[in-house]
Amino acid sequence: MKNLARLRSFIQDMTRLAERHGADEQRMLDEGDKLLRGLIAQDDWLPDEFAGPSPEGYRQYLLHCDPMERFSVVSFVWMPGQRTPIHDHTVWGLVGVMRGEETCEEYSKELKAASRHPVRRGQVDRVSPRIGDIHVVSNDGQEIAVSIHVYGANIGAVRRHTYDPASGSPRDFVSGYANATVPNLWDRSGKPRA
Ligand code: FE
Repeated sequence: MKNLARLRSFIQDMTRLAERHGADEQRMLDEGDKLLRGLIAQDDWLPDEFAGPSPEGYRQYLLHCDPMERFSVVSFVWMPGQRTPIHDHTVWGLVGVMRGEETCEEYSKELKAASRHPVRRGQVDRVSPRIGDIHVVSNDGQEIAVSIHVYGANIGAVRRHTYDPASGSPRDFVSGYANATVPNLWDRSGKPRA
């Protein structure tokens, strides 16, 4: 049995934060970063069905969407060698690595690859149109990588873009989610740990 209480209390903390500071991107990033570090510090809560890889490509599973769509929480799963296209988000986002290691290549608005850095287990990376919004995330390691992302919208429904690496031309992109159901956070009948 997974310790879903950890995810539940993270969502409660994020909801309180969105209520107080939802319009203040810097504050959402700074305080959301701290909360997300706390969530990914202990890898005992993510149900296996939201951590399953696919040989067809990286997977994104919705864990929670705020009822007002002020934020969403998503698990991403990469097999070794899998990578995203070059893409943007159009809203703020936090990427916290919980298993394995990911590589982030950041691009400027002109689509010049500006920098490349690892995001190691326990670390949190940030994106937004204000601080840099275009990147590629890949798993260059040997094990499955799982990261927990928080975005300032219902990210799977946001109309955004992928970019052709050769021409730089954008293409409309709505990512959706791989799952049809979300974790049941609200059954408190059982003990959190067997
Ligand atoms: Fe991204």
